[in-house]
Amino acid sequence: MRKKIVAGNWKMNTLLQDGENLAKDIVKASEAVRDDVTLIIAPPFTHLHSVGMILEGSRILLSAQNCADMDKGAYTGEVSAGMLASAGCSHVILGHSERREYYGENSGTLVRKLRIALENGLSPVFCVGERLEEREAGRHFETVGRQLEEALFALTREQVEKVIIAYEPVWAIGTGKTATSGQAGEIHSFIRKKISEKYGQPTADGISILYGGSCKPSNAAELFSMPDIDGGLIGGASLKAADFIAIANCF
Ligand code: PEP
Repeated sequence: MRKKIVAGNWKMNTLLQDGENLAKDIVKASEAVRDDVTLIIAPPFTHLHSVGMILEGSRILLSAQNCADMDKGAYTGEVSAGMLASAGCSHVILGHSERREYYGENSGTLVRKLRIALENGLSPVFCVGERLEEREAGRHFETVGRQLEEALFALTREQVEKVIIAYEPVWAIGTGKTATSGQAGEIHSFIRKKISEKYGQPTADGISILYGGSCKPSNAAELFSMPDIDGGLIGGASLKAADFIAIANCF
């Protein structure tokens, strides 16, 4: 059975002390969440080690928001997958639309990042999603299909089974506009079908597909009730422990 997952992407928010306090609040509040819900938080790089110490002994897993597409060496400013694993991360978000949009990440870069993350024992949270103009032109299935084919489908079945997918329509991220459960549900089903065509139904049935884009306590329950939506990747609402945990309680 695939996992129910709620993951918090803190993006470039919180100073170290605030991040540590937020992590402590989340740990405390997480005791009330159903045991079968996996909780992941993705603080900024600078917080990973100390937040990781706070999470020790708790049920919350640590993720980074990105990693380098090279193993090690003269790549000033980059952080490798191996470094993240050694700092306590079990997951890494890859292909977030903000990385694609502002930092020029493309499918070629993402294939390297996916492989290097997996080689270092990290589970990627691989993000896909269409822009507003693509949705308005009715090309959302085509865009998401291409993002899967060009990057994810370069992986072996064994590798893909370690990946979590996040469908995040770009027009819904940080805008307050959420995809309806119908809009999200049909893309999630499409993603699962594509995976089953490439890797077989058992693999597709085991992969968690999260929804992301202005997900909050007031809309999470309806989204999570869709058969192919296995949880959420949460941006803004993950910066408040009470909201993050309220979302995790929406299954
Ligand atoms: C995100 O960026 O991953 C995200 C889903 O952001 P928000 O929840 O703020 O829309």
